[in-house]
Amino acid sequence: MSAHLNAPQREAIRYLDGPSLVLAGAGSGKTRVITHKIAWLVDQCGISANNIAAITFTNKAAKEMQERVAGLMGGRMPKGLTVCTFHALGVKIVRQEAVHCGLKPQFSILDASDTVQIVADIARDADKGIAKQMQWQISSWKNAMITPGEAAQLADNELASAAAQLYAEYERTLRAYQAVDFDDLISLPVQLFENHPEVRERWQNRLRYLLIDEYQDTNRAQYRLLRALAGVRGAFTAVGDDDQAIYAWRGADVENLKLLKEDYPELRVIKLEQNYRSSRRILHAANTLIANNEKLFEKRLWSEHGDGDQIVVTSCRDPEHEAESIAMKITAHRFQNRSRFSDYAILYRGNHQARVLEQHLRNQKIPYVISGGQSFFDKAEIRDLIAYLRLLVNEDDDLAFIRAITTPRRGIGAATLEALGAYAGQRHVSLFAACFEEGVTQHLNPRQLELVREFAAFINRLQYRAPREPAAQLLEDLLVAIRLEAWFFEHLDTREAESKWNNVRDFVGWLGRKGEEDDKNLLELTQTIALISMLDKEDPDFDGVQLATLHASKGLEFKHVFMVGVEEGLLPHQSSIDEDKIDEERRLMYVGITRAQRSLNITWCERRKAGRDTRRCEPSRFIEEMGEDVRINDRKSNEPVSREEGKARLANLMAMLENRQEPS
Ligand code: ATP
Ligand code: MG
Repeated sequence: MSAHLNAPQREAIRYLDGPSLVLAGAGSGKTRVITHKIAWLVDQCGISANNIAAITFTNKAAKEMQERVAGLMGGRMPKGLTVCTFHALGVKIVRQEAVHCGLKPQFSILDASDTVQIVADIARDADKGIAKQMQWQISSWKNAMITPGEAAQLADNELASAAAQLYAEYERTLRAYQAVDFDDLISLPVQLFENHPEVRERWQNRLRYLLIDEYQDTNRAQYRLLRALAGVRGAFTAVGDDDQAIYAWRGADVENLKLLKEDYPELRVIKLEQNYRSSRRILHAANTLIANNEKLFEKRLWSEHGDGDQIVVTSCRDPEHEAESIAMKITAHRFQNRSRFSDYAILYRGNHQARVLEQHLRNQKIPYVISGGQSFFDKAEIRDLIAYLRLLVNEDDDLAFIRAITTPRRGIGAATLEALGAYAGQRHVSLFAACFEEGVTQHLNPRQLELVREFAAFINRLQYRAPREPAAQLLEDLLVAIRLEAWFFEHLDTREAESKWNNVRDFVGWLGRKGEEDDKNLLELTQTIALISMLDKEDPDFDGVQLATLHASKGLEFKHVFMVGVEEGLLPHQSSIDEDKIDEERRLMYVGITRAQRSLNITWCERRKAGRDTRRCEPSRFIEEMGEDVRINDRKSNEPVSREEGKARLANLMAMLENRQEPS
């Protein structure tokens, strides 16, 4: 393997005696160090894969790393190897140590919309906006590892005390449901390790080799988790790039890079300077741009690649025009270069920019995949099914109970649920348990009672089967029993019903494959679903243009990159301009530029809708900051064409495509 590694990479891979940090710019092979180090540890050092954990920032990155490791090791990931996100590692730890965390192993994991719902329920009269703010505050406290008691003590005005009280109530509710939120997945293991040295030691011995990618974006709680796991021996390998720190808004802290040096004085810092990803012009523009930021660490980056194409900056009339011209360019470019759709990526600042791009890609029949967008698992019909699974696993999960019992509607309304809830509250039991209690007969009329008991008994029967049968089979039977397909087609218009039913089928298929592939039972599957933020395209050969936010594009690379909406007010974002946080936006731009291997196209719009108004836009200051390597396209070359002319051009192109002989 040494043929494909340079000297500092080899050094980073072979260094096992203590903590190390690989600090290097984009495309220098940091992630490659991690994958090769895993192979080195297992193949050359004879270390059991059980003792190795690689931590990535997103599920997508984890998946990609698993594939890369498998590629290095004869096509298979070694058994027992952990490659996952911090949160997924948290699930693993909390599940195994549930008793020490005051939970049963079948706890539920709540996602952001569940937790906002809980906050809204507690603060009865608050609207969704306020509930969201409160949830954000609670989450910040939890990330900073501040308990409700401490929050109450810190509160210096009425509002803050009210929020602290809400926080306390929120925590009680979560525990009553036997549920945790995302923040708990980090903070519970930290507390666990700090309070139970014997448990900590067990995990330290288990995960002796920790490898952390994208280290610059860890937050305080994650750092504490890393420290607890690494222990005094601290044989971890962290890799990161301070110029790519783009998650400060979610509590990530680049200071963690400096902290590492303070907390581990023996830290070996290794720098990589050769970039293997991009052509020289792209790299130079990225370096020139980022030189405008204050430097935390001195870094250099050079490339052996040729100059490559010039970076092209084009102005567009508006986002419609921008999307249309990109779709045309991709069609033409792909034709000329015989490339695949998956060689192209379109990157943008905010999710709202995706819609118009999708429309125009669809118009031109260009297949695409989207990441960082609305999750498949967020669709209402999928959430409904997940609620059933959650309830099967954890009957204390009242949120799941309410969602399941009302899906599809079976004559159980708000009044019934309120009465049941009031009774369960008095008795301090879950809604599910309340259904079976004798006392509940006083609170519900006979018809209501019959309906809820029927539902609870149905869940009970499935629960009995759950440990014995594959999850997908169980779900199939459940679908038949609740007559979901029929319900869709009776209550929705045909297209919507079809679309929802297709999603349901996809979900069943996914559950079946996942269950077999990873040999996971219903409990494990249900607990990991909450962590999945998108339906990973199962088929790695799927050929589509990648649409992604700049944030979601981190760590990825594409031959040809289009960055859209590169305007003042969007990138840098207006809120960052107002708050004087341009540096983080510049890093975001740096991340975008450095995704490109061969070509980079930047577009900006002269007009953009903002609410009801249309405002005039200026090109982003970052374009100028990229220096001499950019070519500003003259406006004419990108003038919108008339609809007829556009159609004619496209027809021409299609005719050419059809006549062209495909290579056999
Ligand atoms: P980022 O900061 O964007 O996450 P990175 O530092 O993690 O980038 P990698 O993704 O590991 O960089 O590597 C960038 C590209 O360079 C990959 O295609 C990788 O395979 C290639 N590469 C890295 N090191 C070498 C090497 N020594 N020889 C050949 N190719 C390499
Ligand atoms: Mg990387």
